[in-house]
Amino acid sequence: METIHTVEWMKQVAREARAQGHLTGFVPTMGALHEGHASLVRAARQQCSPVVVSIFVNPKQFGPGEDFEKYPRQMDRDCVALEQLSVEYLFVPPASEIYPNGFRTSVTVGGLSERLEGRSRPGHFRGVSTVVLKLFEIVQPRFAYFGRKDAQQTRIIRQMAADLNLDTEIVVCPIAREPDGLAMSSRNAYLQGDERHAATVLYRALDAVRREILAGERDALHLTATMRRVLDSAPLATVDYAEIVDADSLEPVVRLRGKCLALLAVFIGRTRLIDNLLVEEEGDSFRVSL
Ligand code: AMP
Repeated sequence: METIHTVEWMKQVAREARAQGHLTGFVPTMGALHEGHASLVRAARQQCSPVVVSIFVNPKQFGPGEDFEKYPRQMDRDCVALEQLSVEYLFVPPASEIYPNGFRTSVTVGGLSERLEGRSRPGHFRGVSTVVLKLFEIVQPRFAYFGRKDAQQTRIIRQMAADLNLDTEIVVCPIAREPDGLAMSSRNAYLQGDERHAATVLYRALDAVRREILAGERDALHLTATMRRVLDSAPLATVDYAEIVDADSLEPVVRLRGKCLALLAVFIGRTRLIDNLLVEEEGDSFRVSL
């Protein structure tokens, strides 16, 4: 694996790969890698060569008072993991490479960016869209891999790719979970003592909804109330939002129809976790993916 620190060198490598007709697969991350990231790399590996992984803790997607400073950074461990996954290139730019003095431009995907995560974290998706567009321009991937763990993010990136006629195809991969259902996340490292068990309440709330849907429930208000009831039963949990929305518009629905998402953001102590459930209408029934 070659580690690349500068934009210029990464662009050079990307240009050469493209000129030789190679399909570059790209997995953007903020590091502190876990099995969720590994699953994206494996998906990239299956379709693409070379595979490029970036590690960049993007300051522009953290709000004031959020966890930018304390976000886990473990470059040595991450390098070992990526070597084992046979990644060809690791792109780790310093912030000054991505945002040199005088940087002014930002990308906003209107509407989709203001709801849910965007309401709780103003400016978050502007930071995400901006850095992802920049990384796409630098790495020039044919395919880029994102986790459904961040479902709103994937919806926004897809919209940006379509609106701006990007050459990169967005691939969305399933959520990797711990054996007890907790969605893997670099932020799970913040959980202390009883919080680790309490954090399974996100999964338990979504699983309760899943079971009700499979039993025939279609009323979104009823399903939302079910999520709330489970979440309220966990002593360390404070709900930020728990909504059932149309997967395309991200607007709340009254009844399940087409493709919907049940989306959660919950504080466990001071740690903010998100998770979701994908619900897809198939004929007379619904497919539910946790
Ligand atoms: P992050 O490093 O948290 O910015 O995440 C980098 C990529 O990994 C994003 O596309 C995330 O959606 C994805 N990801 C994070 N956690 C998981 C997970 N548990 N399962 C699948 N993908 C994930």
